[in-house]
Amino acid sequence: MGFDVDALRKDFPILERTVASGAPLVYLDSGATTQKPLQVLDAERDFYLTRNAAVHRGAHQLAGEATEAYEQARHTVARFIGAADDEVVFTKNTTEGINLVAYALGNAGRLGPGDRIVVTEMEHHANLVPWQQLAERTGATLDWFGLTDEGRLDLSRVDELLDERTRVLALTHQSNVLGTLNPVRALADRAHAHGAVVVVDGAQSVPHRPVDVRELGADFLAFSGHKMLGPNGIGVLWGRAELLAGLPPFLTGGSVIEIVEMDRTTFLPPPQRFEAGVPMTAQAVGLAAAVEYLERLGMAEVAAYEEMLTARALRLLAEVPGVRVVGPADHADRGSAVSFTVDGIHPHDVGQVLDERGVAVRVGHHCARPIVRRYGIPATTRASFYVYNTPAEVDALVEGVRAAQRYFGG
Ligand code: PMP
Repeated sequence: MGFDVDALRKDFPILERTVASGAPLVYLDSGATTQKPLQVLDAERDFYLTRNAAVHRGAHQLAGEATEAYEQARHTVARFIGAADDEVVFTKNTTEGINLVAYALGNAGRLGPGDRIVVTEMEHHANLVPWQQLAERTGATLDWFGLTDEGRLDLSRVDELLDERTRVLALTHQSNVLGTLNPVRALADRAHAHGAVVVVDGAQSVPHRPVDVRELGADFLAFSGHKMLGPNGIGVLWGRAELLAGLPPFLTGGSVIEIVEMDRTTFLPPPQRFEAGVPMTAQAVGLAAAVEYLERLGMAEVAAYEEMLTARALRLLAEVPGVRVVGPADHADRGSAVSFTVDGIHPHDVGQVLDERGVAVRVGHHCARPIVRRYGIPATTRASFYVYNTPAEVDALVEGVRAAQRYFGG
């Protein structure tokens, strides 16, 4: 492997802790949020210690330095995804980024009765509910790609779904439940042929594999800092420059304006047009440190390392009778979220046995209720891996599942 995981783990002191039972923590919930390395914590602290001020304001030197740090963070993020600096909008998280696009498209009058918004059945609620709401507000119709039994998109209706009525295609790049990696480029090209806008939820792809926005072929890409070693409260919306330039603001107030009179306002160009109020400056600086950390590891190496862990998990879980993986069974061409059910044992019970053994996983519907409904299950247990996980931790997961079976007689 291209990086030394044992050395890297020293950057994450939290991984050395134990849980109440005395077992060492085995953190397999990075799909929900990742741990943060010292480099990120130090970058945030250093900002507050030495450069804290409100950005884009004030004539004083400190405000200038804070603004420079903030804009440098934007540049670092832009470089990471192959974007231009002014195409990177800082948001609170993925959820806000997608809402921003949905509201701005609605406010721009881009949708109306007879138009179609297309999503998929594997979306996180963050990339489903805003589109439901937009459809309700505008009279547009919401339709979606269903799923195959294997957990991939069912593309049999592609011609019907992506036609001249389609104004928006919104889909996840990588599923947070199934691990599925979607063919964004091919679908985006088809949607673009009919003039639709393509919005990609990158919450689970940008942290885990190389993502270049020009290769991706979409128009918007939203992701969260907290899922990629960065701080909470900072996310990114990338938008194609010409599209961002044509959209009205989402939130309004200070920072986004050019001229304000009592009865009218004109707005700054992107990205400032979309960053109302004093932004999350230390968090942006922390996110840039996270990006630099990932760049030092190399995103191709990150993806390869996670694929190794995922392959091990899929192989070992397949050896446990009664365990069913919900999502693609082959480690190639998928991400590292591994959801499964255990015959005769409720996922919450599996989660509890794992928790007592220090193994932190997520159980439930993972904010993607239509998926569990599609597969006729109440919930799943989900393990999700990141750069600091080890093969031994994968083994601890599988041992824990076997222990749950012994305990509950499964
Ligand atoms: N989309 C996907 C695929 C996710 O996994 C998540 C987080 N679980 C989100 C969107 C929402 O991210 P956030 O809560 O950071 O806005």
